[in-house]
Amino acid sequence: MQILENKTALVTGAASGIGKAIALRLAGVGASVAVADLDRSAAVPVAAEIAAMGRRAVAVEMDVADEKAVEQGFATARAELGLIDILVSNAGIQIVNPIESFAFADWRKMMGIHLDGAFLTTRAALPDMYRNDRGGVVIYIGSVHSHEASPLKSAYVTAKHGLLGLSRVLAKEGAAHNVRSYVVCPGFVRTPLVEKQIPEQARELGISEEEVVRKVMLGQTVDGVFTTADDVAQTVEFLTSFPSAALTGQSFVVSHGWFMQ
Ligand code: NAD
Repeated sequence: MQILENKTALVTGAASGIGKAIALRLAGVGASVAVADLDRSAAVPVAAEIAAMGRRAVAVEMDVADEKAVEQGFATARAELGLIDILVSNAGIQIVNPIESFAFADWRKMMGIHLDGAFLTTRAALPDMYRNDRGGVVIYIGSVHSHEASPLKSAYVTAKHGLLGLSRVLAKEGAAHNVRSYVVCPGFVRTPLVEKQIPEQARELGISEEEVVRKVMLGQTVDGVFTTADDVAQTVEFLTSFPSAALTGQSFVVSHGWFMQ
C-alpha cells in the first residue's frame, strides 16, 4: 500500500516546473491528482503521464485568481476524482521592477494570482476536508522570499510573506477538523519562471546574466547549486504524509542553505 493510496490531491500551476514535479511525485506515491492550470491543454500531458503510471488524473482548467473558475475547477476535480484531501497552492508568476516604477496593474495581478489564488483555492477545498472532520493537508508554495527581501521584487516578497499569515490562520482554524497547513519555501529553481528573470535582472541591475546566476541567485547557497523541483516535491511528499499536527503552521525552507531559519 502506497502512502497516498486513496487520497486525492489538487495541484495548481501543475502544467510546468515545480507544480508538475509535485503532481508527478504525489501520483508516484499513490495519489489521484487533479492537474490544474490556466490552460487545460497545458495540463493534459501531465495528467496523461500520471495516467500512464496507473494513477487517476484529470486536467482541470483553472485561473486561480478568478472565483468562478476556481469553484468550477474544484467541481470538475471532485466529480472525476472524489473529495479533495490535499491542496497544493503553487500557481505563481513573477514581475520584477523597482517600486517607483511598478505598475499598479502589475501589483494587483501579483496579489491576484498569489494571494487571491491561495485564498480562493483554500476556501474551495475546505468543505471537502471539514466534512465529518475527515481532514486534509494544505500546502502553499511560498519562497525564500516569504522570509527574505530582494530588490525589484516588492509584490512577490509581499505576497509570499502573506502566505505565512494565511497558513498560520488555517493551522489554527483547521486543527479541529484535522486539517494541517504548511508553507514550503524554495530557493531558486531553474524553471521557466526563473529563466525569464535572468535577463530581466541583468538589465535592471546592470550586470551580466552569468553574474545574476552566480552572485544573485546562487551566491548565498552553501554549494552554488540550484534547488531542484524534485527537492521541493520531496518536501511536499513528506508533509502530505506526516502523521500528526506537530508541524502544522510551519514553513520549510528548501534552498541549499541560502536562507536558514
Ligand atoms: P512556472 O512558470 O514553471 O510554472 C507556473 C505555472 O503556474 C505555469 O504552468 C502557469 O501556467 C501557472 N499559472 C500562472 N498563473 C496562473 C493562474 N492565474 N492560475 C493557474 N495557474 C497559473 O513556475 P515555477 O517556477 O514552477 O513556480 C511555481 C511556484 O513556485 C510559484 O508560486 C513560484 O512563485 C514558486 N517559486 C518558484 C521558485 C523558482 O525559483 N522557480 C522559487 C521559489 C518559489
